[in-house]
Amino acid sequence: MNKKTKTRKPAKPRPGIDVTKAPKWWLTKPDEIREFCESLNGVEVEDIGLTAGGRTIYAASWGEREMLPGRTCGSLSSAIAGGDVSTFFGKGERKKQVWLFVGAAHGTEFEGTVAALNLLNILAKGKDLRGRKQPEIAKAARQHRYLIIPTLNVDGRERALDHVQWVNCNPKYYSMISQGRTNDGQILQWPTSKLQFPIPSDEMEILGTYFNDAGYNLVYDGPLAGDCQPETTALMRYCRREMPDCVMLSHTDNGSLVQPPSAFVPDHVKQRIDQMAAVAGSACARKGLPKSRVPKSPKSYCGDSFYQSDAVYHACGAVPLLIEFPCGWQNNPDNHGDILEIGLTVLHELAAFGGHYRFRPIDPRWK
Ligand SMILES: [Zn+2]
Repeated sequence: MNKKTKTRKPAKPRPGIDVTKAPKWWLTKPDEIREFCESLNGVEVEDIGLTAGGRTIYAASWGEREMLPGRTCGSLSSAIAGGDVSTFFGKGERKKQVWLFVGAAHGTEFEGTVAALNLLNILAKGKDLRGRKQPEIAKAARQHRYLIIPTLNVDGRERALDHVQWVNCNPKYYSMISQGRTNDGQILQWPTSKLQFPIPSDEMEILGTYFNDAGYNLVYDGPLAGDCQPETTALMRYCRREMPDCVMLSHTDNGSLVQPPSAFVPDHVKQRIDQMAAVAGSACARKGLPKSRVPKSPKSYCGDSFYQSDAVYHACGAVPLLIEFPCGWQNNPDNHGDILEIGLTVLHELAAFGGHYRFRPIDPRWK
């Protein structure tokens, strides 16, 4: 059954909460983010596709692109089956590994993007967007080439463009914006909203920011089905061209951080995801930050389902991380600085881990 909550009046944020105001350094809108990326020396910005609603998706990059020689196989699966994955990844090691941050597949889940843009500023200028010097983060992150798609679901983001923060927001109001409200006044709920795919937009008074203009939840889109959404095509093409070693798929919840591994990746990749989840959560705990969770279960809350992270792995071989940054529900954290601190700590720890151990684990040899 699709559980829905009935509301007579429009839900509102709590009294005193202004979801349209945040500190200046808190960048969440596609146009302002692009302007910021284009202002940085050493950062390149390019269009990588269009959304279902015809909006531009863009990516920014820091560091030189380097492709390894000896690539004869355009399919990871074929290279594995043939007994030599270097025919897919190339021979030898890159000077710099590549990590890709993908923000806001759910349009108003932008807290991770805020942190990822601060990281970009640290790469370019050595300090975060509050002006604080961050030499340790710079040192860890400059080991790698860094790619960022700040907003994948530009449609969802732009339909609620004036909403820029959620600290202490009423969860019912959050659900109304994120999941949507039907023409008869019912607010869709997570996860039962997933029982309609796509969401019939003509039945919605408010189409939630979870979805693109065609009503698709991009994380469950079907890149193998031949009729996927243009955002998915843009992401997969970009991954295939750039061949990142690690892809961070950024979301927002109460701050459960790096999630258990996706269901349909090999065991050694699952093990790598578990390791990275542990160090990221532990780094937040060491600093006494208000969120520091490590996974409590070896699997996702719903068991095995094919997710965007599985698609990313099978397209390019990257270790796919699903990261849930905190948005400040229940007023915890209760300020933007702590949300940023948690985000930067996670990214710092992942960069350091990748530098020490590689992002991608060595593939086992079966032959
Ligand atoms: Zn999400």
